[in-house]
Amino acid sequence: MDFGSYIRDIKDYPKPGVVFKDITPLLNDPIALRKTGEALLGFTSNMQIDKVVGVDSRGFIFAPMLAEKLEAGFVPVRKKGKLPFKTVAESYVLEYGEGELEIHADAIQPGEKVLVHDDVLATGGTAQAVCKLVEKLGGEVVQCNFLIELTFLGGSEKLNGYPIRALLQY
Ligand code: 5GP
Repeated sequence: MDFGSYIRDIKDYPKPGVVFKDITPLLNDPIALRKTGEALLGFTSNMQIDKVVGVDSRGFIFAPMLAEKLEAGFVPVRKKGKLPFKTVAESYVLEYGEGELEIHADAIQPGEKVLVHDDVLATGGTAQAVCKLVEKLGGEVVQCNFLIELTFLGGSEKLNGYPIRALLQY
């Protein structure tokens, strides 16, 4: 399937000079939606995964589905102040701004094998912070996967050492 034909470029969003990759046309099409899930699942075939971490907020679209198919648990990583229980936090710099991400302190047990999923890998700051959170809890990141990798932003360099997979690369 030509997944790229379902991705819409939005110029100057969320600020001038940025071309935002809009994934909603892909979500909107029932066949593209199903095939995207299947393709993401294919990235981890024959891998043992205990937890799938999804990143606030577009990472929450596919991560729970992957978790269910992999017979793993789902863990949300959220922007500061959104999780109700005791959290562990990590600051990060992203393509347009700065932020802090949090995970529940009991979400991952030491030694658990973790898949990190988000919609887009841009500069890599977000995914790097998520991997740090997983490691703070003693988890082992076995793969980071994305719908889209914006290779020209060099995010994979920040994820040095973690296996990375993406459905589409620009
Ligand atoms: P990074 O930290 O790698 O620079 O940015 C990645 C985060 O920002 C991801 O959580 C992703 O959802 C969001 N993001 C950055 N650029 C884009 C984009 O062009 N399209 C979409 N859908 N999300 C983006």
